[in-house]
Amino acid sequence: MARRSVVVVGGGVAGLAAAYELSGGAAGPDGATPRVELIESSERLGGPLATAEVAGRVLDVGPDGVLARRPEAVGLVEELGLTERLEPIAASGAWVWLRGAAREIPTGLALGVPTDAAALRRWPGLSRRGRWALARDRRWPARLSVGEDATIGAIVRAKLGDEVAHGLVEPLVGGIQAGRIDELSARSVFPALLEAARRGGSLAAALAEGEPASPGPRHASERAGPAFVTLTSGLGSLPGALGAALAARGVVLRRATAVTALRRTPSGPYPWEVDTATTTTPADAVVLATPAPVTAALAGRHHGALAALSAVRSAGVAVVTLSLERATTALPATGTGLLVPLATAWPGPDSMLVTALSFLDRKWPHLRGDDDVLVRAHAGRSDDARWRDLDDDALVARVLDEARHLLGRAGPLRAAHVARWPSALAQYELGHASLVEAARAGARALGLALAGSAYDGVGVPATIGSGRRAAREVCERLAI
Ligand SMILES: Cc1cc2nc3c(=O)[nH]c(=O)nc-3n(C[C@H](O)[C@H](O)[C@H](O)COP(=O)(O)OP(=O)(O)OC[C@H]3O[C@@H](n4cnc5c(N)ncnc54)[C@H](O)[C@@H]3O)c2cc1C
Repeated sequence: MARRSVVVVGGGVAGLAAAYELSGGAAGPDGATPRVELIESSERLGGPLATAEVAGRVLDVGPDGVLARRPEAVGLVEELGLTERLEPIAASGAWVWLRGAAREIPTGLALGVPTDAAALRRWPGLSRRGRWALARDRRWPARLSVGEDATIGAIVRAKLGDEVAHGLVEPLVGGIQAGRIDELSARSVFPALLEAARRGGSLAAALAEGEPASPGPRHASERAGPAFVTLTSGLGSLPGALGAALAARGVVLRRATAVTALRRTPSGPYPWEVDTATTTTPADAVVLATPAPVTAALAGRHHGALAALSAVRSAGVAVVTLSLERATTALPATGTGLLVPLATAWPGPDSMLVTALSFLDRKWPHLRGDDDVLVRAHAGRSDDARWRDLDDDALVARVLDEARHLLGRAGPLRAAHVARWPSALAQYELGHASLVEAARAGARALGLALAGSAYDGVGVPATIGSGRRAAREVCERLAI
């Protein structure tokens, strides 16, 4: 039998993981390994996994840490022989800007939802009214009927009030997903919350009793041991390492080449043809590891459920890394960073752009310098693209002003770097799970497989997992 041919479209971490698994996974290639071709439209592999040199250090300007309790990313790093580069996070806890000051986030929260109302009884981040809403949930819980799905905002607002929703849940969930809790699906983003709401009674008590694990990252202070790990060469070095491993296995890596069409050729020797501007590759199977709207554009004409993926919106974000003089910058004494709720007022024009400040060199010891601190500012949400209107210099100036307001003191700027990720984070809105289920079934029926952050979780581990699962699905189907 002729050697099987599989094409992977998209060279983000999902596509790279799919190509790695298709070319033999941990064991490496053998006689049954198919010919694998990975086609990526940009010059670089890895999507937002990227590093830059700032103030003499190579650091991440996209994702900078992965959840240690999920096996996919750490497992892949180990398989690639990079274990000695793994570094656990060196700080825990975080702060949130509420009622005009930075407030330490209490322990006992699940994605910002209090599981122990008593821990917030005297917390100054909430007004008396906000604390009363928590006490009410314990004694006279609001009735709420949730069906198959509800937004995170609808559940939290009904049960725990607007203050907890706005001041804790929105910044924590929004920070991960760059979305709005009034649009994000509890079923897809926070199933433990939906389950707790279904149980009825006190939401905090039901969450405390229920499954402790939810798929999204949780607050670092909730777990014993390091919650996150990074690579001392930057998580952004992972695509390069994967690319090198794939090339060594004979995988054909094509960069700066967009796939323009997927054509079915059921009567030919191969059921698919994958077109670029200049080539056509015949394939037994195709893994689509592209953003959902691109997948819809390429495969939608073959199945309605794949066309429906065009509805998956994504949020763009900017990551601004600042090197600030250490002696004159006042960071909170502890913690990994400071979250900023939506529409936070400050003395500058309109509301704050910054959604979070992250204390990079406190989280990752290998980044520590004697004279500066590295503060990374995030800007942008699904409904806030104001950062796009500012050029790099104006964005750095604005973020620096806001950081000075939030920290009290932020010394002279030594260096800055701006990374823009225009549509990087898929939004799992109400009904997302059904959309994904239907698309997967449609893809399977056609002999296609779907991978990427639009489906099973936006984090790097979930995305790696989706790539490897898509590859295994293809191998099973082709009996290889
Ligand atoms: C600023 C930021 C910070 C983050 N921080 C964290 C974090 O700390 N921890 C964590 O776990 N996760 C984090 N994430 C999430 C995580 O980085 C992403 O979800 C993940 O990298 C997405 O990978 P992907 O392969 O699904 O998508 P992508 O990386 O977007 O890959 C899709 C690829 O398809 C290519 N493509 C598009 N169209 C075509 C075409 N027609 N032909 C060929 N190729 C095409 C694109 O160029 C792209 O390279 C962060 C994300 C961002 C943006």
